[in-house]
Amino acid sequence: MKDLLCPLCGRLIDHHINGLCKDCFLKNITIANVPQVIHTIICTECGAVKKGRRWEMNDTEMEELIKEQIISSVKINPILKDYGISVRLASRDPFIFNGKIVVNSLIEGTKIDIELETQVRVKKETCIICSRRAGGYYEAIVQIRAQGRFPDEDEQDQVLDMIYNIIDRQYNSGNGMSFITKIEKLHEGTDVYLGSNSIARQICRSASDRFGANFAESSTLAGRKDGENIYRITYSLRLPRFVSGDIIRFLDETILIRHSGKRTSGLNLGTGHEFAEHTNKLKDADKVSDIGSAVSTVLISVEDDIIQVMHPQTFQSITLQKPAYLSGTGGEEIKTVVIGDSLVILPPK
Ligand SMILES: [Zn+2]
Ligand SMILES: [Zn+2]
Repeated sequence: MKDLLCPLCGRLIDHHINGLCKDCFLKNITIANVPQVIHTIICTECGAVKKGRRWEMNDTEMEELIKEQIISSVKINPILKDYGISVRLASRDPFIFNGKIVVNSLIEGTKIDIELETQVRVKKETCIICSRRAGGYYEAIVQIRAQGRFPDEDEQDQVLDMIYNIIDRQYNSGNGMSFITKIEKLHEGTDVYLGSNSIARQICRSASDRFGANFAESSTLAGRKDGENIYRITYSLRLPRFVSGDIIRFLDETILIRHSGKRTSGLNLGTGHEFAEHTNKLKDADKVSDIGSAVSTVLISVEDDIIQVMHPQTFQSITLQKPAYLSGTGGEEIKTVVIGDSLVILPPK
């Protein structure tokens, strides 16, 4: 029903916006606008975007990122309560993107679509983090070592795996300084150079929880920046002295170590009982043998809790107390270790 007159153009209209026809309404108001040119700086290495003076990490695809930037640059008149923005991109080269923007809106029941155009010009730079990384920057070194021995390859790999996981997790949650500058394999262990000191510290805490490692830190002056001293921190990470398979003497008991972490557990070879102790309480323990030194011999006979065993070196029959974990009845082959003057029977597994 056309029973209204537009007060500006005098046209008959069936419904009005703010009292005007659609054309007159749009002539008098800016529904949406966008700058003709949008400049953006993106890191060629990692895709981070420069916002003001800061670099913001970014893991979206280039085109998505450009679209997001266009959408955030569109200014919408606050009278629009209900609207949608869509962007179509065309690029002639990797540095220039032309964007066609459509703003769909509904104002007082009238559908209004506005078309806008912009051009995004991309400047490629290297962000602070990538240039630091490329320049071999590091804040801390974590030295993977062991107490009183050299850590084996497998142990070092386990710690390295843990480090890679922490680095990944931290990087993915937005810490761009979460990177490894270099890894140095040494005779006595592995040195890991890290971009972030706080991550180095986190690595040490996790290694302490997971592997029962101790760590000590020392700092060296690396230079001065903006009038302040810059220190590099070295963390000496020490894996426990004993590993699974070691046989130790601790408080006059002979213990076969089965697990070494924050707590050390194993088997008391004297009593046959399970053993568990805080690793840092084993300071005065000594390694006396290990499972690698085990020798097979014959269990000659078993009578109640007394057994006869052939000594693997003298071949003489000797009498021992039957350990709880020994299940043979005589004639079987068993594993033993010779520790000083005594013969110790090992469990079957
Ligand atoms: Zn009008
Ligand atoms: Zn970067």
